[in-house]
Amino acid sequence: MIDRALPEVLRGRGYRVTPQRVLVREILQRSAGHLSAQDVHAAVQARLPGVELSTIYRVLELFVRLGLVAKSDLGEGRAVYEWCPEHAAHHHLICEHCGGVTHFGSPRLGALIAAECAAVHFEPRDVDLAVAGTCRQCRSASG
Ligand SMILES: [Zn+2]
Ligand SMILES: [Zn+2]
Repeated sequence: MIDRALPEVLRGRGYRVTPQRVLVREILQRSAGHLSAQDVHAAVQARLPGVELSTIYRVLELFVRLGLVAKSDLGEGRAVYEWCPEHAAHHHLICEHCGGVTHFGSPRLGALIAAECAAVHFEPRDVDLAVAGTCRQCRSASG
């Protein structure tokens, strides 16, 4: 259903449906994980040679603005992108031992952040939480 939704979302917001945009969407959806712009660029190049990295950045940033893609900093010094049209429950737990990344989030957390922002008259656009620590597997391995 998302396949049909992308052209509708783009056209509905006044954006053209280009091969690059369709391909970036497909790559992010298929990977079901966190990709850097360089990762996406390499995958696009395999299918559409000659596409510039700057084009990939523009497509990714457009998808972020449209709420289709979550952009996160997982502490690797570069942003990663992930197909996430729901934009719900998208925070990260990052294990400092194995590098494993787990998603977490809840409506309660979202409501709490919204309330705290409202208290200081701040309009939140995006929330990107990363919690560093030790995952269950690494805890049991060491304990
Ligand atoms: Zn993620
Ligand atoms: Zn771990």
